[in-house]
Amino acid sequence: MQLGGGGDPSWGDPRRRTLLRGRSGRFRVWPIVLFGAFFAWYYFSHQEEVPLTGRTQLIDLSREQEAALGLESYQQILSQEQIVQSGPEVDTIREIGRRLAAVSDDPGFEWEFNLINSSQANAFALPGGKVAVYSGLLPVAQNNDGLAAVMGHEIAHAIARHGAERIAHQKLVQLGTLAVGTAVGDMDVQTQQMVMGALGVGAQFGVLLPFSRDHESEADYMGLIFAARACFDPQEAPRLWERMGQASGGQAPAEFMSTHPGHETRIQNLNQWMPEALQVRAQYCGGAAGAAPPAS
Ligand SMILES: [Zn+2]
Repeated sequence: MQLGGGGDPSWGDPRRRTLLRGRSGRFRVWPIVLFGAFFAWYYFSHQEEVPLTGRTQLIDLSREQEAALGLESYQQILSQEQIVQSGPEVDTIREIGRRLAAVSDDPGFEWEFNLINSSQANAFALPGGKVAVYSGLLPVAQNNDGLAAVMGHEIAHAIARHGAERIAHQKLVQLGTLAVGTAVGDMDVQTQQMVMGALGVGAQFGVLLPFSRDHESEADYMGLIFAARACFDPQEAPRLWERMGQASGGQAPAEFMSTHPGHETRIQNLNQWMPEALQVRAQYCGGAAGAAPPAS
């Protein structure tokens, strides 16, 4: 199944058709037709546009629903973590977050920025603008520009509503799986298992993973531009991801390392977007990169 791609080409595969017909039970067509009709309606009635990149996306949650989900998860995570209550590091995180949010095409989120005491070099942003940085990130980030690279990336996930988009995709995959399950429900168990197994793998590698890779790239691009607009040095971003790669070597990867694009591709992309980022920075801030932001 491919969202918006005109159906799954593998259904036209003659081998699979033979396989489906050749077994005991009959293949029901109506669940697929029904799902197709629903998909078409759903797809075209839930289109949104990502700010900055203009990409069309599928979202079926209202901003309020999305913010409520984000807040709930945020409170749950924070209740299990040790929050750094005050100090220069918290102040720095909040100041950087505030500067980035101010230039981020913010639709009116109630931003929150917290520092979690943890050895992990990680950060996250939840729908509705709930952001947390783990203290283990600070030595890897090294400076405010490095922090802005990570926080810009996270803020971009929230602005681009990637969480809500992922929920919509998962819903569609579940519904599609249900439709196919009904379609092959009369066939022998072995065939059913085979079809459902192939479908599960297909959905994972054909839909969900590629989208999460796209989301990572999109967050990289938007984060770079936000950092530039907020007068941080965008050139620190590729250096930061280089350090992140070294820091995570061998260990479980952080959120922003866990999905492709691979490390090298990510840095290549950032360098490719750099002239634009530097231009944006000059336009918003004038002067040389690294200079103080305009008085605020
Ligand atoms: Zn990410």
